[in-house]
Amino acid sequence: MLKINNNYLKLENNYLFAKISEEKNKYIQKSDVSLIDLSIGDVTLPLVNKASEGIIKANNLLSNINTFVGYPPSSGHEFLKEQIIKNDYLNVKAKISKEEIFISDSSKSDISNILDIFSDKLNVAIQNPVYPVYLDSNIMRGNNILYYSSIDSLIYEIENNDDFIIDIVYICSPNNPTGEVVTKKQLEKLISLALKYQFIIFFDAAYEAFIQENNIPHSIYEIKNAKRVAIEFKSYSKTAGFTPIRLSYTIVPKEIKINKDITVNSLFKRLKDTKYNGPSFLSEYAIYNVYTSSAINELKENINYYTENTKILFDFFKSKHLILDENLCVNSPYVWIKTPNNMSSWDYFYYLLDNFMILGTPGIGFGKNGENHFRFTGFGKREDILNAIDRLK
Ligand code: PLP
Repeated sequence: MLKINNNYLKLENNYLFAKISEEKNKYIQKSDVSLIDLSIGDVTLPLVNKASEGIIKANNLLSNINTFVGYPPSSGHEFLKEQIIKNDYLNVKAKISKEEIFISDSSKSDISNILDIFSDKLNVAIQNPVYPVYLDSNIMRGNNILYYSSIDSLIYEIENNDDFIIDIVYICSPNNPTGEVVTKKQLEKLISLALKYQFIIFFDAAYEAFIQENNIPHSIYEIKNAKRVAIEFKSYSKTAGFTPIRLSYTIVPKEIKINKDITVNSLFKRLKDTKYNGPSFLSEYAIYNVYTSSAINELKENINYYTENTKILFDFFKSKHLILDENLCVNSPYVWIKTPNNMSSWDYFYYLLDNFMILGTPGIGFGKNGENHFRFTGFGKREDILNAIDRLK
């Protein structure tokens, strides 16, 4: 008889953003007032010129019999890997090789699919609150979750709690939703602990482009020995506005070994070769054109626009005394607030919709510690941010 993976029954009924989207549609249908959506972290500015130009160039190449290419390699084309090394790892001491780069359609899929190569019932440390995909994909695999509330508390638990034995730890820096970042010193400590206790670090740098402070690492490989213990996920979704295009890459260093014969890199390659057809040539060429035409600054202009949006929201909620820790929003495209009068985060969600037609994200969707908190995105259009503030005033 057909049996299901029972772990799926342990999941919440709906993925957080699917539920928000359902509620959004209901409200749009029943109200005449326009809805302002500051919930999901989706970009709103159009593609930068060099990215659109790259898609057109790729289309021309594919339309000509002499330059047409078929299936890409499962880890992406070398022409883009060379640019990634040249541009993204220029100031990183560790040397990243092309075989360690896996270009993909999205970090979301790599972050979860990579779990396939490890056994189930692993002990996995996940921050609470954090991007919900870490939790859901580990529940699906039947892994045992150990929560930590901040990077300092993670370090404390590993060093002092005999029951906190882990195989994998997820670090999201800057953290979605809180904006917490991991410092160089904290990473040095975590890497030394990973070597000592033999766990792997999954470093998700989806929001590294939003880091404003100087001493915060943009890549874990800025830290000595990181290549021995850390896998890094980088997405172009927010850094290059590629949410509709889809592109990301994952660095899996050859130094990370399961035993003396098996590397995580070789298993991940095996997984990709079997289950994945590689990224779209159009997406790869779009970002290749940005790198090779030195148009990184165009991307920065978009990042600055979103950062300014976040600052406007931050200042407003600060004036209402709803910001918990001012330092947390500095490096993040999100504003993380405590709800007024300690409302539950779903109550506040409906309160905002019923009274102001503003959509945000309930903090509890990111984990239990997110209860009585709420997240607004800075990725909206400026006029929407200003209108939302006007309505709330
Ligand atoms: N990692 C974090 C922390 C995110 O918040 C997101 C998307 O919101 C992703 C990864 C997903 O990136 P991608 O769009 O490449 O799947």
